[in-house]
Amino acid sequence: MEERILLIEDEEKLARMVEMELKYEGYQVEKAFDGRTGLERARSGSFDLILLDIMLPQLSGMEVLRRLRRDSQVPVIMLTARDSVMDKVSGLDSGADDYITKPFAIEELLARIRAALRNRGSREGQSLSVGPLVMEVERHRVTIRGQEVELTKKEFDLLRQLLENKGRVLSRESLLDSVWGFDFVGETNSVDVYIRFLRTKLDEAFGVKLIHTVRGVGYVIREE
Ligand code: CA
Repeated sequence: MEERILLIEDEEKLARMVEMELKYEGYQVEKAFDGRTGLERARSGSFDLILLDIMLPQLSGMEVLRRLRRDSQVPVIMLTARDSVMDKVSGLDSGADDYITKPFAIEELLARIRAALRNRGSREGQSLSVGPLVMEVERHRVTIRGQEVELTKKEFDLLRQLLENKGRVLSRESLLDSVWGFDFVGETNSVDVYIRFLRTKLDEAFGVKLIHTVRGVGYVIREE
């Protein structure tokens, strides 16, 4: 499968050169020449990696990254013309995976792209997401728009079950089986109680609507 790269770069000559090299390496490439268009395209979610210039018209690269990170964990490599420590630090702080200073050798860019795609592979195995919510399974960590949410073990397990079946309606019985175990003795309304806890901590606290009730059937997690 060809990996798709979005290149957000206003220097058209440089963009064309990078595009050519990336295509030669077998990547699919799409270009955007300003921050606003770039952010729109990035949000479409159909890219495996984004190359993002910092100095861009309309929206700066930093701003594009900041907005993108509200709901996407796609790997981002910043392209910076200035060899400034500040750019690097704030780029990595705002969620860039890596940066490269212009002018760069294409081989170095390719190496960084490969590394970022590899890291994404290992990261994806451990993280689940819906809309602005990201669960890092191994780290037992849940964030919404980057803000951490404290969950109890049961809440976490229930949320994980919903996320692993994102978009699919799960019955109370199947949630009881998978989260509480087959030998659970008690009321099926435990599920409802914990769904309420999750809604309070997630949906209500962050003004989102992720957990939906399907009357007479059960629950489903999906974007609004
Ligand atoms: Ca630029």
